[in-house]
Amino acid sequence: MCPPGARAPYDARVSTDCLFCRIVAGELPAQVVHETPHALAFRDINPQAPTHVVVVPRAHHADAGALAEADPALAGELLRAARAVAESEGIVESGYRLVFNTGAGAGQTVFHVHCHVLGGRPMTWPPG
Ligand code: 5GP
Ligand code: ZN
Repeated sequence: MCPPGARAPYDARVSTDCLFCRIVAGELPAQVVHETPHALAFRDINPQAPTHVVVVPRAHHADAGALAEADPALAGELLRAARAVAESEGIVESGYRLVFNTGAGAGQTVFHVHCHVLGGRPMTWPPG
């Protein structure tokens, strides 16, 4: 059964204390820019670039490694969704950066895998 307000199709692999699961379930607001059957893309609340969107699978996986192990097809769908966001944001030509912070030491703060799509300004290397 879908809980009230859930975005269909509801995935049973949700965690009620996970911020991004709650956004996927429609329990918390987000500025959604792209949706697929298994992924959702919404603007980061604290943008680090003119375009800063996070793309998440609807199903809960802790990080990129866990997702790749559990469901490689879903990992691919996440990358396709990231590409679609880059296209709709108009940053394909100028270039954009995809980031999966993995582990607290790398800056991961939400342990529901998400792909940051960053663009609209020059990107430096190495990253901070
Ligand atoms: P991480 O640090 O785990 O790689 O990325 C988590 C991201 O989620 C951060 O960039 C942070 O700004 C964003 N974030 C945290 N809470 C919210 C929220 O409630 N809504 C949205 N849209 N983004 C959030
Ligand atoms: Zn989650």
